[in-house]
Order: sequence, then C-alpha cells, then structure tokens
Amino acid sequence: SAQAQTDTKRVLLAAPRGYCAGVDRAVVTVEKALDLYGPPVYVRKQIVHNKHVVTTLEKRGAIFVDETDEVPEGATVIFSAHGVAPVVHDEAKQLSLKTIDATCPLVTKVHREAVRFADDDYDILLIGHEGHEEVVGTSGEAPEHITLVQSPEHVDEVEVRDPDKVVWLSQTTLSVDETMETVRRLREKFPQLQDPPSDDICYATQNRQLAVKQMAPETDLMIVVGSTNSSNSVRLVEVALEHGAKDGHLVDYADEIDEAWLEGVTTVGVTSGASVPEVLVRDVLDFLAQRGYEDVSAVTAAEESLLFALPNELRRDLKARD
Ligand code: SF4
Repeated sequence: SAQAQTDTKRVLLAAPRGYCAGVDRAVVTVEKALDLYGPPVYVRKQIVHNKHVVTTLEKRGAIFVDETDEVPEGATVIFSAHGVAPVVHDEAKQLSLKTIDATCPLVTKVHREAVRFADDDYDILLIGHEGHEEVVGTSGEAPEHITLVQSPEHVDEVEVRDPDKVVWLSQTTLSVDETMETVRRLREKFPQLQDPPSDDICYATQNRQLAVKQMAPETDLMIVVGSTNSSNSVRLVEVALEHGAKDGHLVDYADEIDEAWLEGVTTVGVTSGASVPEVLVRDVLDFLAQRGYEDVSAVTAAEESLLFALPNELRRDLKARD
C-alpha cells in the first residue's frame, strides 16, 4: 500500500562528513583576523572551496582576490587552505603585505616532501588535477623536478630522467582508489618508484570516501553537499556511483535538489565535503523530511578528533591584544 511504501523511506547519513581540521582552522583564521584587525581583510583565492563560506565571510568584510597584486600595499592578506607557491610569498613581501598563512598543515607536509625530494634530485611525479590551487602551490616548490600525472590514462606519457630515482606524491583530496591505480601503472613503468614517506591523501578525504563506500550499495540516491570547485566533494559523488549508488548529485544548497531525483527512491544517502558547514546538511535533511524521508540513521566509518592550532602570526597578534 501507499502507507507501507512511505514507511520504508529513509536517509543514511555519513559520518564523518563536513569540516575537516584544515578547513575549520582556515575559516576561523579569517573570522579572528576580521575581529582583530577589522575589515577589510584580504584573502587570496577562496579560503576554502565552498560558496556559502565565501559569501558569509564576504558579508563580514573579507575581500577575496585572485592574486596578491590586487591587495593594497601594506594591507593584510590571508593565504587559503590550499597552499601557495614560494613565489607568492615573495610577491607579498615586495608589496609589504602582512601575511597570514592558512595553508592546511597537511598540504604543507606535501610541500616539504616535494622540497626534500627535489633537493635529492629526484624526479617527482605529482598525482593531481591540473590547475587546482593546491597542485599549483605544490608544483611551485620545485617546478624543475615535478611532473603532473592527472590520471591512470596519463601514465603512458610520463617521462623521467632516471627511472631509478623517481618518487610519487599527490594532491590531498583525490580518489584513493583511482590514485592507487595510477600508482600501480606508474610502478609497472618505473619499478623503482618510491612511495611518499606517509599518505598524501589526507585523513579527511579518506574517511569521507570510506563512509560513502559503506553506504553506496544500499543507496538509491546520494546527495553530496559541496561546491563544484571542491575536489574532495566532487570525488564523493564519483565514489558513490562507482560503489553502487544508483544516482548521485552534488548540491551547494537544499533548494538545488530536483524533486524528480526522488521519484521511486527509498534510500537517500547524505554526506558533505570537507569544506561544508553542517547547517547546509541540516537544510538538506529538513528538505528530505518534508518529503517523507524522516528516518535518519548514521553510517559511521571513522572517528575524527584532529584539531590544528591557528597560524603562528595570528596567534602572536591575538596574544598581544589580550
Ligand atoms: Fe587539510 Fe585534508 Fe582538509 Fe584539505 S581536506 S584542508 S588537506 S585536512
């Protein structure tokens, strides 16, 4: 009967989802800088790749610019969570800007690996997406030594100077499975290929993908809250579809959900990317509840408790004020 059918409607809610430690730190950095120095505070690039976060901070007086030369001389500029190439630090110095670096420590870790292997004269194969800010930043640490490998299909084109001295590194927000496939093919070609000293794909990316993999086989429709320029969010939709979700969509806001997606759908999976505030997930859950999807159960793939301290330069100024 119609009643029985309505009763089976349910939501599987992924855990962990949403904010990671690096995003939380970056957003709080802009908020505290606004409190401390007063608006405007300049931010180079989107602080994190989320429309809602950027709009909210803009309303509070943050000004987002694409390049450092758009910042007035002597002003304060915050570098985004995705990291910057050393040349950007140099530019800021030339313009006498006060800089606060909100680069995620897990991105900085990859920068350090790149510098170290470049110093040892390795060829570095950086797995990542061309043009993504993180890849631009990491590549800028050692442009002469780094070759970008975009996907398993690109491995054939890769050339190195010495196949005995090759290491792979990666962007932090890739699909774990696709990256492992790229590495497998690279190793076929370069058997001496060295692994990074530790995982470059970060814990948050891995955990969000794990939860989606657990949910996907039971899911008719996976709704991922996130922006289209958010690499880890886009990957969540792909991972869901690869692991058995019948349909999947990325939305910034609940009102982007097309009612037609819900036709014949019993189980809706819900998750969100690492740059997504929880309030946006709540809106999606409300939207679904209003349409009969009131039964929500959590699917927990991992527990997270990591927290990062705010950037030193900001902590210093906060302390000086108190
Ligand atoms: Fe850092 Fe990972 Fe979050 Fe990126 S997704 S900010 S690397 S913790």
